Order: sequence, then C-alpha cells, then structure tokens
Amino acid sequence: MEHKCRGSYYIKVFGCQMSEHDSEVLAGQLEEMGYQSTEEQAEADIILLVTCCVRETAENKVWGMLGRLRKLKQDNPNLVIGVCGCLPQQKDIGKDIRKRFPHVDLIFGTHNVHELPRFINQLQETRETVLEVWTDTDAAVVENVPVKREKGLKAWVTIMYGCNNFCTYCIVPYVRGRERSRQPDSIAKEIEELVLEGYQDITLLGQNVNSYGKEFVDPAFDFADLLQRLNKIPDINRLRYTTSHPRDFTEKLIEVIAESKHVCENFHLPIQAGSNRVLKKMNRGYTREQYLELTNKIRGKIPNASITTDIMVGFPGETDEDFAETMDIVQKVRYDSAFTFVYNKRPGTPAAKLEGQVPEEIKKKRIQELIALQNKISLENNKALEGDVVEVLVEGPTKNNHDRLGGRTRTNKLVVFDGRSELIGTTVSVKITAGHLTHLDGEY
Ligand code: SAH
Ligand code: SF4
Repeated sequence: MEHKCRGSYYIKVFGCQMSEHDSEVLAGQLEEMGYQSTEEQAEADIILLVTCCVRETAENKVWGMLGRLRKLKQDNPNLVIGVCGCLPQQKDIGKDIRKRFPHVDLIFGTHNVHELPRFINQLQETRETVLEVWTDTDAAVVENVPVKREKGLKAWVTIMYGCNNFCTYCIVPYVRGRERSRQPDSIAKEIEELVLEGYQDITLLGQNVNSYGKEFVDPAFDFADLLQRLNKIPDINRLRYTTSHPRDFTEKLIEVIAESKHVCENFHLPIQAGSNRVLKKMNRGYTREQYLELTNKIRGKIPNASITTDIMVGFPGETDEDFAETMDIVQKVRYDSAFTFVYNKRPGTPAAKLEGQVPEEIKKKRIQELIALQNKISLENNKALEGDVVEVLVEGPTKNNHDRLGGRTRTNKLVVFDGRSELIGTTVSVKITAGHLTHLDGEY
C-alpha cells in the first residue's frame, strides 16, 4: 500500500526489552498510518515516551524529559506528545501525568499499545487529552499488529505477557498484569516470517518464560515443547529466550536445550540475593542450595554454557551476613556477567512497607564491592576462553574501528576481530586471542 507521508515520529524508550519491543509495535503502526521515523526530537510531529517504572532512576528520567518537552510544545502546538508503557499503568499515575503535564496529549498503558491509531484519530477529532489505561482483564492477546523492527540480524518476539510471581520488591505484576501466553502457531508463524526476512538471532520474550503455556491444558504445551517446535523452523539460526525464573527451570527444559541445535547455551538466571532469609522475604520461591543445584545441573549437561544473572543489594533488612552470602554465591556460580541493582522502593509493593530499609551509604558500599567481584570473575572467565575456537554470528563493523568486525558467540559474548565486510551476516569460526572485561578479541 502506498502512503502519503503524514509527518514524522520520534520514540524514546526507557527500560527493558519488553519496552523496546512495545516501541517496535508503536513504530509499526505509525508507519502504517504514513508517519516516518526521525532521529531529531525537534523535527517530530509525534513524540512517544515508552516508560519503565521498575526502578526509580528510569522513572525520574521520564519526568525530566516530560518537563523539557514543555518548551517544544509551546513552539509547536501541533506536536503530539504521548506517554505509554509501565508508568501510566501504576495506580492514578495516568491522572497525575494529565494534571502535572498538560502538554501531554496521549496517555496509555501496556495493554493497549496496539490501539495507537485510534488514539491519534480521537485526539485529532476532539483535541482533548486521551487517557486510556486498561487493566489486564480488558486485554486479550492481540495478534497481527504491525511491528517495525530495527534492521539487522536480531529480533525479539513476545511469547507471553505479564507475570504471576509477585516478588515482593517488584512492580511488574501490577503494571503488566497476569500471565497470558500466545498460541504456539502464531509464534511459529511470526518467527518463520522473520527468518525469511533475514533475521538470524531470535529472542523469545516474557517476564517468566518458563511458565509459558501454563493455561494450555488440553493439549498441554509448555516452554520446552515450544522450544522443541521452534527449533525445527527451516533455516533458523539462533534462538534465545529471556527471562527464565530459576524456580521453574525443569530438567526437561535443560534436556531440550541441550538437544536443540539452534537454542543457544546462554542461561540468564536472576538470583537476586544469596541469602535464604532474603530470598524468602523476596518471595523468590527457591533457596541458594536449589539454585546451586540448578546451575550445577546445567554445567553438568552443557559444560560450555554461559550463566548470567540479575542481583540486587540493599533489600529491606539485608544484613552484612546476608550480603556476604550474596558475595559467596557469586563466587560459587562464577557468572559470566551480571546486571547489578541497588534495591529501591516501588510504591504499592509489599517490600516498600517493610521495616529495616537499608541506608543509601551501605547500599552504595555493597554494590561497589559486588561489581568489583563480578568484574574480576567476568575477566577471568573471558581470559579462560583464550585459544578456544568459537562460533560467531557477525553483526557489523565495530563503532570505533570500521576495519574490525563485531559479532556474538552462542553464549552471547561480544567478539571483535579483523575481517572483510562480506562476512557480515554469516556465522564463522573465530579463535579467541584475548579475553577482556566486556569483550573478546579474536582471529578469523
Ligand atoms: N522478570 C525478570 C525481571 C524483570 S525486572 C525476572 O524475574 O528475572 C529486571 C530486574 O530489575 C530484576 O531482575 C531485578 O533484579 C531488578 N529490580 C526489579 N525491581 C527492583 C527494585 N524495586 N529495585 C531494584 N531493582 C529491581
Ligand atoms: Fe518481577 Fe519477580 Fe515477575 Fe520478575 S518474576 S517480573 S522480578 S515479579
């Protein structure tokens, strides 16, 4: 279909891959409506902020940007400003935004990103702020919404929405709603099309992919079944998934991953804390012993697997002894890399009301110690790969030096090496010559 250009749009994403993917869905719909993307905020006719509220820093960045946009709107009253995603999904925040930032035209949540065209049309007719935040019970799993992906080799595909875990620190279950899984057929069809378009590295997305398909009873079909099915897609190169909850990681799943040629051997298993007392208060549903048993089983079956994690310091009531247990488990598992976080209060979550909130200076000291330890281990693990030959999917020239190529191993490590641009998009064997903290040097 030919479209007349209706104007340009600019999307700013705060937050995780889930928000990144929401932004691709928003972009897809805008392009269908005839809008084109622009890199220049000041030139845009539509500016959308896809927000996050998992941590306070991400939230504050949104408030800052909304403040700065006031001036742009004064200069260009036709500019459409929208705020969507997790932040408006929190209780009363949508109304707050409307009150505090009257220059915002569209406010919607995580469950109705596919309704953007209707919101824009409604705004153009009524000229009144559109505020529509749904709860998950209003939301079905919507299929066939256009998606505009970044050009390249990697694509993200949502397989389930929401989370039922209610970890006590986390806002996600409140803003993303209950777990809902997409049908295997439509996931497979989407990936088949992506493979035909040339995408080679597909990541399946969900807050807790291991509970995929819990609601499918007859016939039963779980995450391991899904991986087995997707592994058979013709010409598929690499399949990944994130995030998996350590509690629900079954032996069947480890077997299936070990046997499935295209499923990569990178295990992202958020531990959050190393002390059983804290894990219990977090409602994580596993002990440190169970977690270690899982990582040992994985390494037993798949010796070259990489294991990565999310860890938090400063959960309410965390003592020096608890923190020492976190340091200890990091040393025992020897993660390849970790996302480290300082706990912060999320209003409405049970942990926000707990006694014994940890003072900022202590949190800061603990996170520094944790990062130093993890960096040391990451470097040692990468150095241990020197001399190995690994499979690299070549993504493109590196930012700083166009004669050097960069790509990822199946374990999701970045490898940099000299090579000609014809190699981009192919999978090659590279010998590792040096391991560094965040990447590996190699020789083709
Ligand atoms: N569903 C994923 C994580 C989603 S949030 C999982 O369960 O692993 C991503 C990470 O943000 C979490 O793993 C956690 O480490 C961190 N996080 C979540 N809430 C937080 C809070 N209140 N303060 C600090 N970090 C938090
Ligand atoms: Fe949040 Fe826990 Fe759900 Fe992850 S599993 S999204 S941390 S509640």
